Amino acid sequence: MAYSNNIRKEALKSLKHTKHFPFWLDDPARPTPEPALTKHVSTDLLIIGAGFTGLWTALLAKEQDPSQAVVILEAGETAGGASGRNGGFVDASITHGLHNGLARWPSEFSRLLALGLANLDQIEATIKRLDIECDFLRAGDIGMASEPYQVEGLKAEIELAAHFNIKFEFYDRDRVQEIVKSPLFIAGLNYPNHAAIVNPAQLAWGLRKACLDMGVQIYENSAVTKLIEEKQYLIAHTDHGSVRAARVALATNAFPPLLKRLSYYVVPVYDYVLITEPLTTAQRESIGWLGREGISDASRQFHYTRTTADGRILWGGYDAVYYWNNGFGPHLEKHSASFARLADHFFQAFPQLEGVNFTHAWGGAIDTCSRFSPFWGTAHHGKTAYALGYTGLGVGASRFGACVILDILDGWKTERTELEMVRTKPLPFPPEPFRSIGINLSRWSMGQPDQNQGRENLWLRAMNWLGLGFDS
Ligand SMILES: Cc1cc2nc3c(=O)[nH]c(=O)nc-3n(C[C@H](O)[C@H](O)[C@H](O)COP(=O)(O)OP(=O)(O)OC[C@H]3O[C@@H](n4cnc5c(N)ncnc54)[C@H](O)[C@@H]3O)c2cc1C
Repeated sequence: MAYSNNIRKEALKSLKHTKHFPFWLDDPARPTPEPALTKHVSTDLLIIGAGFTGLWTALLAKEQDPSQAVVILEAGETAGGASGRNGGFVDASITHGLHNGLARWPSEFSRLLALGLANLDQIEATIKRLDIECDFLRAGDIGMASEPYQVEGLKAEIELAAHFNIKFEFYDRDRVQEIVKSPLFIAGLNYPNHAAIVNPAQLAWGLRKACLDMGVQIYENSAVTKLIEEKQYLIAHTDHGSVRAARVALATNAFPPLLKRLSYYVVPVYDYVLITEPLTTAQRESIGWLGREGISDASRQFHYTRTTADGRILWGGYDAVYYWNNGFGPHLEKHSASFARLADHFFQAFPQLEGVNFTHAWGGAIDTCSRFSPFWGTAHHGKTAYALGYTGLGVGASRFGACVILDILDGWKTERTELEMVRTKPLPFPPEPFRSIGINLSRWSMGQPDQNQGRENLWLRAMNWLGLGFDS
């Protein structure tokens, strides 16, 4: 049964007292920002951006060589970007899933799979070693089918997974209903060891504390306005200071890039999220879900949902909105139509929860690229390196992104830098108005298979054939 898009009054009522702010950041544990930069400093390594990519880069750099000086400049507060406003799914995939990775890099896919799993293991080990309290739970991510054609899709994926020795669990309708009770879910496929959930802001703040403890200097509310090459150094200017660095890691994700050329490779796509109030014991019993698995729809336009440590349900995705000319900014983080649709879909999935209110609703920009998985590059004669393009699956992959940034800046030839995935870039997006036309046509087309028993229209088939696409 596909989701209906008729929005009922009850859904709108559930949004009446919603705060438009990311739930994860609305936490007493949110640290007081470090002072802004108001002087000139010199450093070995400058990192621009304090999301997961920047924080992992800083931590790994210090762990490799504690004697080097590392500075982070952050425009707002740590985790104020996508890292503090996502669904908190930590996936082992660094290729935006099995199908995408295999279609693009068939000859090295086994390596990518192993590197992704090792990356997730390392994230878990770091959280344990640094004792970061962030509700990390490796319970898997269940792809949930709600239509028979989607069940066939899950079965086809099992064949692929078996080919790569990936441990999976297939759930029929009865088993699915034991795990989580929803009239929509008819089958599920889980890779239990390949995914976790986390409180993303608490993870980022834990990494930030570890960086500070190791001597990383972090300046918050210090946006870099200009990055200039001066002989063997780079100078990053902020409104009230500057940093001279031997090497720079750009970790600015979907934000307007300091290197203009990157705006051809990455488009900001806004994704919206709701979170409920903590459920009562009776409400909780009515849905089950004791294993706290992550759940995503098996449809092309998908929702993702999960529970929190204090017994709420997060519900996000489905709409992925691109705004004209790489539109970006806080004014796009509130989208009433998406919130209303999300609320109504939530009660279609969990009608037994009718009457539950949403406490927080927010949006954030996803750094979408045409191959849906990260890419790397350099500028300023190799003194600057960047990683971006995670396309909605960067909570885990950002640590791998950071490892590659450091390999590149150190000039090391590693297993990672030899990968075709690392050495190549996605196809660029065309300029406006073709960019908007193409993306909006793709968005509309992605809703079609879900209404037509999985059949893709001509546009999507042509895009697939060209290896181009749009996803969140
Ligand atoms: C709504 C939503 C849901 C998502 N859900 C998931 C999920 O469940 N699982 C998953 O794996 N991924 C998810 N993602 C994607 C994931 O959050 C990102 O891929 C990941 O957080 C990227 O981290 P980052 O450090 O590269 O970017 P960010 O966290 O965006 O950090 C970039 C930082 O750079 C700073 N910055 C930008 N420009 C400058 C400048 N000029 N000077 C100084 N600082 C600057 C910004 O202020 C920001 O803090 C989601 C994203 C969104 C928006």
